[in-house]
Amino acid sequence: MSKKSLSIASLGVPRIGPRRELKLALESYWSGKTDAAALLATAAELRAANWARQHALGVTEIPSNDFSLYDQVLDTSCMVGAIPEIYGWNGGEVSLDTYFAMARGSQQQSGEACAHGHSHGAGHGVPALEMTKWFDTNYHYMVPEFTRGQTFTLSSTKPMDEYREAKALGYQTRPVLLGPVTFLKLGKSKDATLNPLSLLPNILPVYTEVLRRLSANGAEWVQIDEPCLVLDLDDTARRALRDTYAVLARALPNVKIMLTTYFGDLGNNLETALSLPVAGLHLDLVRGADQLDAVVEKAREGLVLSLGIIDGRNIWRADLEKILERIEPVVAQRGRDHVMLAPSCSLLHVPIDLEQEMRLDPDLKSWLAFAVQKMSELSVLGRALTDGRDAAAEELRASSSAAESRRTSPKVHNSAVAKRMGALTPDMAIRATPFIERRAKQQERLDLPSYPTTTIGSFPQTPEVRKARSQFGKGQLSQADYDAFLARETAACVQWQEEIGLDVLVHGEFERNDMVQYFGERLSGFAFTQHGWVQSYGSRYVRPPLLFGDVSRPEPITVDTWKHAQSLAEKPMKGMLTGPVTILNWSFVRDDVTRDAVCRQIALAIRDEVIDLEAAGAKIIQIDEAALREGLPLRRADWQHYLDWAVESFRITASGVRDETQIHTHMCYSEFNDIITAIGNMDADVISIETSRSKMELLEAFVSYRYPNDIGPGVYDIHSPRCPATAEMVDLLQRAGRHLSPEQIWVNPDCGLKTRKWDEVRPALINMVEAARVLRGEL
Ligand code: GLN
Ligand code: ZN
Repeated sequence: MSKKSLSIASLGVPRIGPRRELKLALESYWSGKTDAAALLATAAELRAANWARQHALGVTEIPSNDFSLYDQVLDTSCMVGAIPEIYGWNGGEVSLDTYFAMARGSQQQSGEACAHGHSHGAGHGVPALEMTKWFDTNYHYMVPEFTRGQTFTLSSTKPMDEYREAKALGYQTRPVLLGPVTFLKLGKSKDATLNPLSLLPNILPVYTEVLRRLSANGAEWVQIDEPCLVLDLDDTARRALRDTYAVLARALPNVKIMLTTYFGDLGNNLETALSLPVAGLHLDLVRGADQLDAVVEKAREGLVLSLGIIDGRNIWRADLEKILERIEPVVAQRGRDHVMLAPSCSLLHVPIDLEQEMRLDPDLKSWLAFAVQKMSELSVLGRALTDGRDAAAEELRASSSAAESRRTSPKVHNSAVAKRMGALTPDMAIRATPFIERRAKQQERLDLPSYPTTTIGSFPQTPEVRKARSQFGKGQLSQADYDAFLARETAACVQWQEEIGLDVLVHGEFERNDMVQYFGERLSGFAFTQHGWVQSYGSRYVRPPLLFGDVSRPEPITVDTWKHAQSLAEKPMKGMLTGPVTILNWSFVRDDVTRDAVCRQIALAIRDEVIDLEAAGAKIIQIDEAALREGLPLRRADWQHYLDWAVESFRITASGVRDETQIHTHMCYSEFNDIITAIGNMDADVISIETSRSKMELLEAFVSYRYPNDIGPGVYDIHSPRCPATAEMVDLLQRAGRHLSPEQIWVNPDCGLKTRKWDEVRPALINMVEAARVLRGEL
């Protein structure tokens, strides 16, 4: 091969290890079983393995500093010395203790996070930094905290250390930095009047110094991630970008910056991006497929374009011939040395290696690509573009035939589902009667006291529950024994709820590992991996379901469990389901049909379950939509479309029942303002929400919207092991009562109780029931 081959970048790879080595090392270190040296040795081994793997797979622009012990945004805070005062840092290199104090709080953090880890517990000692979602992924980062007039100093040599570490192993790497504008924009300040971007002049000298040192160590290219370029930006942010890259280019004329954008197209930031004095620009051509022509037309000569053509956010194998059709002309026009091939974004968001999966259906497996396979795809494309398609004929043929088999497979396409989708009518998404009339009928049937008490669904997942599930999974416990175990747990839980006087009961969800996985495993169209972990935050990883085909429900899922639970109690037992939008948002979703079509399919399947629960006698059915807000698109202009089909999907699920049947929903996060109209349009009879930590402030959205239906503002923070006193909950309910009418108010915790211990749950719920009695004037 005489021709210079095309450069291939990965933009970053998963750091957790193929067998979750990083998690094990972290947990062992945190529990004091192993020391820092052992943790750092594991980290170094994982980096070395990542570099070697990428090199072997044909990646030429191998990243360094994409590794992180916990989170790359936290690493950046440490790099620039953005360490809030409470962590007691006195300057100098940020220690491991300080780092983990920021990540997890400084003492034993008993407050665990909610299902998918949306918030940190209060615990005791120094609290962790706040955590929030990384753009629209299910990765969560530690939110940087800024103060007015804050100064920054270089306080971590990690980028340089990891560059040199790779070099010593023989790899010339392209260090990755989170860009200063995105970093500042992701941060927040207690001082609401401070725009973090005003700190730019203070932070740029640190970035300049890092680039200078990287360059002195031998780095030629540096990848600077500015995903904020795909967001709605104001003039201040655009100016910040121009200032930043002007300063860096002036200070370091020899460093080639690959300005990396991802998670969408540049849209109205295109001109800004193309005006920046950088050597290269990376484009997400999966989400932002349509921007390629405009960029190619407008990009100045000499700008290296990094084409993000392999989906870094999803697990599907690419149709390589199709991609070649699109990019061959670009390569021909700009020249091979002015184009690089890459995934759309860092491969952090996909599992590592498909080859580890031994139980997947072979057809399905042939349609998938995890990080390793995606890098191979890039290198095949590189070969085809350098030496012609013939040089990669075999791989291209395999790719095309996999694409063809997926397009036509009966495992993907189910004509019965297509028929139902075709028969979907608008009235299926509307309850027959307005809320006010339904409410009267439900009241009469349920005969609940005012301030009715209930819980969100799950009760403690004790070590015994987990053990039984894992033994059952390994075949060490028979189906009959496992069922008997679950029945006993449920019975004890139901009996206890009746004893303490809760008004509406739940069965406790002991049979569920995860609110999405449980349903996915029982619907057709879903598959599950053995090792397909992706990082959710820190040492928490999730294994998202693979939603690969048309969704249907072969048989009732929760009806038997519900019947058993209701048979044990006089009080109404809630049917407990996960809603279609949440199932969608926490899965890897097929990319051959639109997300809204997939969501409607799930909605129809869960609707069947709702109808069956009603037929079995359920008077109340809860459909959780914990992840509805999470699915909001990055650009405001796209919000309405999403919310329309998300709400419609929920309503398809909820509207197959009679007026007398009460539909509940639950949401556990905090920015209700953004979606309050959508929540209103969902028209659930009752919604329970998280509000206790905000002292009911989060209710304001509902109050100003004049939310008409019933609402259970959480009065008890389940993220904390602390037991709330009766008086505290009375106070919260009285606050709620000032804004809402008393008939609207339900009494419940913030979220499910699965992460708590029984010893914490018992007194808290006893107090909660007492608080409701106080409000009713019974005490
Ligand atoms: N019903 C679920 C539970 O109680 C809801 C969990 C959630 O909102 N994340 O666990
Ligand atoms: Zn919740």
